[in-house]
Amino acid sequence: MPTHIKNNIYAIIGNSAAGLAAIESIRRVDQSSRIVNISNQPQRPYSRCLLSYYLAGQYDKDILWIRPEDYYKKYDTEVLLNTAVTGADIKNKTLEISGKKKISFDKLLIATGASAKFLNIKGADKKGVFVLRTLEDADGILRMLPNVKNACILGGGLIGLRAAYALKRRGVAVHVIVKSEHIFSQMLDAEAADIMRQHLEVNGIEISTGLEAAEISGKDSVDGVILDDGNRLDCQLIIIGKGVAANLGIVKGQVKADMGILADERLETDRKDIYAAGDAAQAYDVLEEKNNVNQIWPAAIRQGKIAGLNMAGEEIKYEGSYGTNSLDFFDLAVMSFGVVKPKGGGFEELIALDAKRRLYRKIVVKGERIVGGVLINDVERHGILLHLALQKIDISDIKDILADEYFDFGKVIPLIKRQTNLFIRPEYKDTCVTYSPLY
Ligand SMILES: Cc1cc2nc3c(=O)[nH]c(=O)nc-3n(C[C@H](O)[C@H](O)[C@H](O)COP(=O)(O)OP(=O)(O)OC[C@H]3O[C@@H](n4cnc5c(N)ncnc54)[C@H](O)[C@@H]3O)c2cc1C
Repeated sequence: MPTHIKNNIYAIIGNSAAGLAAIESIRRVDQSSRIVNISNQPQRPYSRCLLSYYLAGQYDKDILWIRPEDYYKKYDTEVLLNTAVTGADIKNKTLEISGKKKISFDKLLIATGASAKFLNIKGADKKGVFVLRTLEDADGILRMLPNVKNACILGGGLIGLRAAYALKRRGVAVHVIVKSEHIFSQMLDAEAADIMRQHLEVNGIEISTGLEAAEISGKDSVDGVILDDGNRLDCQLIIIGKGVAANLGIVKGQVKADMGILADERLETDRKDIYAAGDAAQAYDVLEEKNNVNQIWPAAIRQGKIAGLNMAGEEIKYEGSYGTNSLDFFDLAVMSFGVVKPKGGGFEELIALDAKRRLYRKIVVKGERIVGGVLINDVERHGILLHLALQKIDISDIKDILADEYFDFGKVIPLIKRQTNLFIRPEYKDTCVTYSPLY
């Protein structure tokens, strides 16, 4: 047994992407210590990413489970499901469970994820108002559907529009209310958002921008939404899609946090033996070149994996995450990554737009390196662009062809080979981690 492995107690809060990746990493290097996994979720692990497809009827519930039933046995892990951690004493290394029992730990991973933001307006407590974050949310919406003709989605981000698409596929008339001037305001620039908006509208989803819900009407159940311009829309179902906030509550004031719990290059917080990963964490972003919250599944997995290895005594540096999203609505694919709407000087934007064909390519360059991009309807080159960006390849020799209709991959490969050593970033050559642009 390696000398760094002691008889630790590892406590991991959360049994989703980050928590599970950490369990699996710890067991790779430490088969003898105790692992306790605590989750307030009643079920075994499932994929949140598939919830909107489940809502749409594209997948059955069976598809959602991401680990087999004997998972915890296989990983020799004690699991406490349906159990909330209600407090943490970081100094004395104990957790309070459901307000009563205490659990001691040597090393802790906070993988508590994020919660959907709610909208505190009059009537928001009525039956028929939902967010879409958990399986319970999706099941609650599905139970309502037989009595729903019209639904309103409050928010034009990824989750709101995925919910809109799902309901439309279920035959519900959907109206999306967006406060910003364009949809996908976090993920897309105005040009790309306009293309997506037209495409969604042509396919029967109504969208109103620059408006907000002021009140939800109805007796016990929702019967409509009153907008801030005074107009009222009839609906029997409302889904709030106003983004998410990291779940920081149990360690608030005990570890340094900003939009998420600040995690260093080992994914450790400012308190020794306390680690953070996933949607709850704020760690290095390779494309933004600063600490950031990238609340996406692959980042959660990667962070959980690296945090777990470091908790178990390895010394692995986290290379950083980046923001990326991909969508496919009514057969129109869109992908974005990194810096999409550059602020400040020093950026260059390579753009190709053909609105009639719903085709858009934008590549954001800074200092002859790609730092972000948006692709609509021609997403095949997403992988290579991302690779160029993550490997920090100087693209000055191929800049003129990057946004071209006919993209010559043959010109790109030699450039990558010349500037990198077999696609492995030099700083990771001595570690066991092979750098992969897709995590
Ligand atoms: C509808 C939907 C679609 C999405 N689609 C995509 C997509 O296409 N691609 C993508 O990359 N990402 C997508 N995401 C985001 C992705 O699901 C998250 O980034 C990912 O789930 C984060 O994993 P996590 O382990 O950090 O946290 P979470 O998945 O949020 O899990 C947190 C865990 O912590 C537990 N927990 C929290 N607080 C406590 C407590 N006090 N006590 C005990 N347990 C607690 C919860 O029960 C849960 O098990 C989507 C999310 C949603 C909701």
